[in-house]
Amino acid sequence: MPKSSVSRRRFLESSLAVLGAASLAQLGKTIILADEPVKPLGFAFVGLGQFAMGQLLPGISRCKFCKPVALVSGHPDKAKAVADQYSIDPKNIYDYDNFDSIKNNPQIDVVYVVLPNSMHAEYTIRAFAAGKHVMCEKPMAVSVKECRQMLDAARTAGKRLQIGYRMHWDSATLACIDALRQGQIGPIQIIVAETGFAIGDPTQWRLNKKLAGGGCLMDIGIYSLSAARYLSGEEPTEVFAHTYQNTDDVHFKQVEQHCDFQLKFPSGVLASCVSSYSTNLNRYEVHGRGGHCVLQPGQAYEGATFYMDNGTGLRQVDVPAGDQFAGEMDGFARALAAVAPFKATGEEGLQDMRIIEAIYESARTARAVKI
Ligand code: NDP
Repeated sequence: MPKSSVSRRRFLESSLAVLGAASLAQLGKTIILADEPVKPLGFAFVGLGQFAMGQLLPGISRCKFCKPVALVSGHPDKAKAVADQYSIDPKNIYDYDNFDSIKNNPQIDVVYVVLPNSMHAEYTIRAFAAGKHVMCEKPMAVSVKECRQMLDAARTAGKRLQIGYRMHWDSATLACIDALRQGQIGPIQIIVAETGFAIGDPTQWRLNKKLAGGGCLMDIGIYSLSAARYLSGEEPTEVFAHTYQNTDDVHFKQVEQHCDFQLKFPSGVLASCVSSYSTNLNRYEVHGRGGHCVLQPGQAYEGATFYMDNGTGLRQVDVPAGDQFAGEMDGFARALAAVAPFKATGEEGLQDMRIIEAIYESARTARAVKI
């Protein structure tokens, strides 16, 4: 939080537009005015799958300003075991039917939605109706319409929404962006962003169109898209895309297998982005007039590795290790306490979904689509 009362007021006023709050008084109700968050925020995790159990719960254990206080799961035995592991009161275990009763639990400040994509909107909106802040995994939802409904629900509740875009807290990515903004490789010309993996179990929800909303683009192509926007610092004005789906393959009966898309940015930067569910890809390259930067892996739970060539050959740039998972949750707590800016907002998630819809339209119509 800025120290002087003038800059503090300016900070609050600049937050008004983002929050959609009608007045500073309303904003004051949703932002704790403190120099640092003093009380850890209580998180409820909805959906105890691989990501929640493998990354987010261990991540919140490393947080300074957040702690796990509740679980929501369709499997009570699993939830009880996780509650024991993280010292969560078993009274704070909910299921999908009694979820709305979290409104009576003052220990829960934030609901973290870690469900299959098509369930994000419903549980986010229900969490706002229960008077909680929300973190929601990527993609924010499966349509622009749902994203707008989620933002409306946040405004009505006077609460905040953050999307689980880890790269906003990844130290190598941030160092790369810093170097780009300082002009260390000159004006950006071309971005190449690649994400992919060979998907396994053909019965999983990621390959079910109704639950996933789409294929590799929704799941990991979104990383290439976010990277192109975040690294360039611009918003694309036009997209052209191809998708491919071998429907003879048991994995790809319902969703796309590959998605390749090009983004055109106002400055003239072009981004070539690719995603796949049948090969490993994980690299972002930014080419400027005076050199290039590489993040490889482009995104990983342990963080990306940053290389740069600005005239003296490609070298690895030494970046201190970060902690994306503790970082994003503590980052949300600090933003709610008005000591840090909001990042990875619902508006960011909506913008990615607008572009994703344009990408699918371009692939369907074999035409460039304006955004
Ligand atoms: P999982 O399939 O491992 O877990 C999803 C959990 O959702 C299940 O374990 C289950 O929890 C619950 N669930 C409720 N209804 C259903 C249903 N109909 N089908 C399947 N699961 C259901 O998925 P992930 O953990 O890999 O992904 C969850 C979300 O997290 C996705 O939106 C994904 O995009 C995102 N994600 C983000 C990552 C990142 O790096 N930011 C990385 C990986 C995933 P329960 O049994 O407790 O009810």
